[in-house]
Amino acid sequence: MNNKVNDNDNAPWYILDSTVIIHILPSEETSKDNEKFLIPFNLKEEMRSTKANLTLSLLESEDRIRFVVPSSEALSKAKQYAEESGNFPNLSTYDIDVIALYFDYPESVIISDDKAVQNVCVTHGIPFKAPLFKIKSKRKYYWKCIGCGGVFQTKMKECQDCGSALKRKYSHSRVEK
Ligand SMILES: [Zn+2]
Repeated sequence: MNNKVNDNDNAPWYILDSTVIIHILPSEETSKDNEKFLIPFNLKEEMRSTKANLTLSLLESEDRIRFVVPSSEALSKAKQYAEESGNFPNLSTYDIDVIALYFDYPESVIISDDKAVQNVCVTHGIPFKAPLFKIKSKRKYYWKCIGCGGVFQTKMKECQDCGSALKRKYSHSRVEK
C-alpha cells in the first residue's frame, strides 16, 4: 500500500488525534483555510458515529484529508520514542499511530491535546499544536526500585542491583513557550 501523499503546494499537513477530531473539527470553520489533515486509518471507523463525520466527509470530498496507515518502520520508531520518554503505558494505539505518521510525513505538524503525546513531542523535539490543552512542564520519567531504591533512567524488567520490581516515577521541567 502506498501511503505517500502527493501534495503539490506547500500547505502543511496536520496530523489529528481522536480528541481533536471529536471536539475541535466539528466547530472549526474548516473550509476557510486550505489546511490538510492526516488521520490514522484506524480512526476512520471510530469516527463514523461522531458528529465529526460530516466534516470528515466534506474534507474528504475536497481532497483535504487522508486516512493513512503508518509504515511499520514509523510505528517501531514511534514506540521506541514513547518508551524512551516513558510515556508508552499512557498511549493508546491511536496515539502511537499519530506519532508514527509524523515520521512518515516529517513536514507535518501533530495536533493533539493528549498530555502523553505532547510529552513525547516535547522530549524528542517533534512539532505539535495544542488547541485546548498544552502541557506546561515536561515529565522526565525514571524507574525506581521498590527494594533498594536504586534509580534507572531507562525501563528494565527488574532492578539490576537487587532484582526487585521497579516503579515508574517522574520529575518536572518547564516547557519553553
Ligand atoms: Zn533494587
